[in-house]
Amino acid sequence: MEFESVIGLEVHAQLKTHTKIFCGCATAFGAPPNTHVCPVCLGLPGVLPVLNRNVVAFSIRMALACECQINHESRFARKNYFYPDLPKGYQISQYERPIAEHGRLAIETPEEGGATIGITRIHMEEDAGKLIHDPERPLSRVDLNRTGVPLIEIVSEPDLRSPEQAGAYLRKLRSVVRYLEICDGNLEEGSFRCDANVSLRPRGSTTLGTRTEIKNLNSFRNVERALHYEIERQRECLLEGDAVVQETRLWDPDKNRTFSMRGKEEAHDYRYFPDPDLLPVVIDETWIETIRAQLPELPDARKARYMDRLGLTSEDAGRLAAARETGDYFECCLAVFPQAKPVANWVLGELAALLRAAGRPIEESPVAPEALARLLQLVDEGTISGKIAKRVFETMAQTGEAADKIVAAQGLVQMSDSDELARIVDEVLAAAPEEVAAYRNGRTKLMGFFVGQVMKATRGQANPQKVNAILKGKLAE
Ligand code: ADP
Ligand code: MG
Ligand code: ZN
Repeated sequence: MEFESVIGLEVHAQLKTHTKIFCGCATAFGAPPNTHVCPVCLGLPGVLPVLNRNVVAFSIRMALACECQINHESRFARKNYFYPDLPKGYQISQYERPIAEHGRLAIETPEEGGATIGITRIHMEEDAGKLIHDPERPLSRVDLNRTGVPLIEIVSEPDLRSPEQAGAYLRKLRSVVRYLEICDGNLEEGSFRCDANVSLRPRGSTTLGTRTEIKNLNSFRNVERALHYEIERQRECLLEGDAVVQETRLWDPDKNRTFSMRGKEEAHDYRYFPDPDLLPVVIDETWIETIRAQLPELPDARKARYMDRLGLTSEDAGRLAAARETGDYFECCLAVFPQAKPVANWVLGELAALLRAAGRPIEESPVAPEALARLLQLVDEGTISGKIAKRVFETMAQTGEAADKIVAAQGLVQMSDSDELARIVDEVLAAAPEEVAAYRNGRTKLMGFFVGQVMKATRGQANPQKVNAILKGKLAE
């Protein structure tokens, strides 16, 4: 039987507000344990939560970016469960009436092309604390700095059909929250977390199969690998005639497999009920429109602009627009040197390779965009060759010096003086009488050899167009 895989993702994004969702404690990461806590986030008796207005504003930004309907009135609910990192015994979340519903996100994969993925809902909630397990002794400690840090949960429809689509959806979502500056999108540090739900069904069927939920996915790669593994596991199970058990499974990145963690809990297990300590969240149209007017250009719009206005390919435009910082860098270069194609080539080529090797993000690039633009200007003006430019770029990255200074100090200015080039060409030809004869007998491929010899004699500084012209003239004599 042929199966089709069906995937839906639940993504938790930690919001970059300065303070927690229901109290004034700082959200800053990395403080000593239990220093950013107060009676509210410790869940002491008798305290009252007060909603952070910025959490709502950030959620509205995301809801608008995902074309959701925003509920003018939403409610917080208590999700009851016991865990040592949850001092209140319940998590404040949203249940029946989330802040936003019925959105969508466009994705693209090489295999399936473009697709629109439905977003079921976006809701606001508080994060729990963190347990730190002692590796040596049977002892666990709890750090409550993270309790009450604001999250939004973004739940997709089961619209994804392959691990690659799931990866593309997740990357797009991360790109959007980063463009919106509401979350730093760090999977490894856990500020952007994903649970993946997956089931199989006979191809052509319209009902959903039994799903499993996979947790502990802390990189894009792991999400895709875990889904591939789980799809294969379920396929074998179904082919054996067994039923897939609805459960929560954990991904083990070292063993490259998922294993059962617990039976899947149902919503009614949590005894959700409206939180009596918090008023309904009322959002008026004016506020929504104010936020809409302040939304930045989003990655898809930026990509389309790079294609339509700058004539870039879909591939280049997509790579430049994927991260806001890369697009910003590119546009800073263009402001100085307005030729999109060479700038794109350099940003996605030399610069990207340099940053990868140095393990640095583009906003910490050792070569500023204006400095790179100036280098490209020198090439465009014919002052240096493209080949020399790559050498100059490396020196710029190492020393932080400007291109002009390096070119002058190292005497790298391109040789364009015809008389001087003609003299070098004569020398090269005189030193290679056999090749000259062969060329004149029809082995015109030898042109590359002659150009190479001239470049060698000039340490790469000869203007290649001129060298070609002079060589052609002399060899035709
Ligand atoms: P819960 O919060 O209990 O996990 P939800 O109904 O909110 O349950 O669903 C969570 C996610 O699971 C959603 O992204 C949804 O699209 C996805 N999902 C639900 N049913 C299936 C299924 N049969 N196969 C794959 N994904 C599913
Ligand atoms: Mg779930
Ligand atoms: Zn607090």
